[in-house]
Amino acid sequence: MTLPERVSAYFDAIRARNGEVNAFVRTYEAEAMAEAESVQRKIDAGTAGPLAGMVMGIKDVISEKGRITSCASGILREFEAVYDATVIERLKAADAVLIGRLNMDEFAMGSSNEHSIYGPTRNPHDLSRVPGGSSGGSAAAVAAGFCDATLGSDTGGSVRQPAGFCGVVGLKPSYGRVSRHGLVAYASSFDSIGPLSRTVEESARILEVIAGEDAHDMTCSRKPVGEYVAATRQSIRGLRIGVPDEYFGEGLDPHIRTRIMDLVARFEADGAVIVPCRLPHSAYAIATYYILATAEASSNLARFDGIRYGHRAAKLPAGDESALLRLYKQSRSEGFGTEVKKRIMLGTYVLSAGYYEAYYGKAQRVRRLIQEDFKRAFSQCDVLISPIAPTTAFPIGEHPDDPVAMYLNDIYTISANLAGICGISVPAGTHPDDGLPIGVQFMADAFREEDLLRAAAHVERIREA
Ligand code: GLN
Repeated sequence: MTLPERVSAYFDAIRARNGEVNAFVRTYEAEAMAEAESVQRKIDAGTAGPLAGMVMGIKDVISEKGRITSCASGILREFEAVYDATVIERLKAADAVLIGRLNMDEFAMGSSNEHSIYGPTRNPHDLSRVPGGSSGGSAAAVAAGFCDATLGSDTGGSVRQPAGFCGVVGLKPSYGRVSRHGLVAYASSFDSIGPLSRTVEESARILEVIAGEDAHDMTCSRKPVGEYVAATRQSIRGLRIGVPDEYFGEGLDPHIRTRIMDLVARFEADGAVIVPCRLPHSAYAIATYYILATAEASSNLARFDGIRYGHRAAKLPAGDESALLRLYKQSRSEGFGTEVKKRIMLGTYVLSAGYYEAYYGKAQRVRRLIQEDFKRAFSQCDVLISPIAPTTAFPIGEHPDDPVAMYLNDIYTISANLAGICGISVPAGTHPDDGLPIGVQFMADAFREEDLLRAAAHVERIREA
């Protein structure tokens, strides 16, 4: 099939099923078809870029010039990005075809894609289930066959957990590996952009294109970009795989546990070295994350004030406060959804005078302990293996009044963001009871994406064998 034919087939699939899955919130068919024609001409002439033929969707939190970048929030409902994020510039330069914008939890806050002005995204494997979040649309679009690959963002698991729930590959690069210029910030010391795709190799190809130094993002590393695609072809013989005790404890579905342990045995039989290890501060990861991430979010989201960007209240309530203050309050009250408001309040609280040391200061110190846990583990092994989540995709509406139960779903993914290391979710079969995808996670030390991809690709070889 030619590229225009493939893009056209994807639009047919979107027309047939996006109504029920609700992964894409906007598509750009005419522009995508024109782009596909132009890339096809380059393919024919032998001048095409490294991602020619890759048809992609973008999470609605990454700026694409001239396109609405709403973050699934009422406050940015009409906001048109005025420049391309660095990752978008690089995808375009590499000849990827970008076909539309993907649903997500508002401002990337959530694990289920239920908090969105566009309504929930549904898991293509079972429409009564969540696709995970916050990059739920990005994972569901790949799983539903709407495109080849997508970009998501991962602040506390948001690429990996939905990838696991939808049975696709999701890669969270190390902190600083990929530029965040043009990503709407949630928690700046955690945020990362990563690919989701059907195969490990495709994610490696995308990472090679989007990774690397960027003058627009001072947190982006100058370290040379690795040979990620080549790493997927390397044997795992001699690779040291750590099995962290704390990631197989209470709360983990027994079938998921068995599945991951079977994989460990296969890796050992295939020549990997299995190393039992400990990450003793794991139990504090969720509390630490929800203090630090909300603190950073409360500061990052202060810019949405009804004056500079986005929604502005049309009518102000009467009151004694200044008109400016009433405008801020009313615009923010109307524009933000409940979960986002909750996070802003939490974050403001942990940063407020009198509580700062008890919460924010302490969480910073615990973050350091978690980083040191990983440092110690990676002195003994190259990658860590674990489940991606304690269960398979849960039913839509399961956690309406219990946000903490939802937060607990991130238990295996959040620590990688606290530590700044990289992680990947790879499909590892389906659950015997509900038939839903099970994901296995690998984590590697910062800027060791090659090890991650080497291990991840082996899971595909085992699956195919
Ligand atoms: N579920 C986590 C949260 O709600 C992680 C979100 C993310 O990685 N963007 O904050």
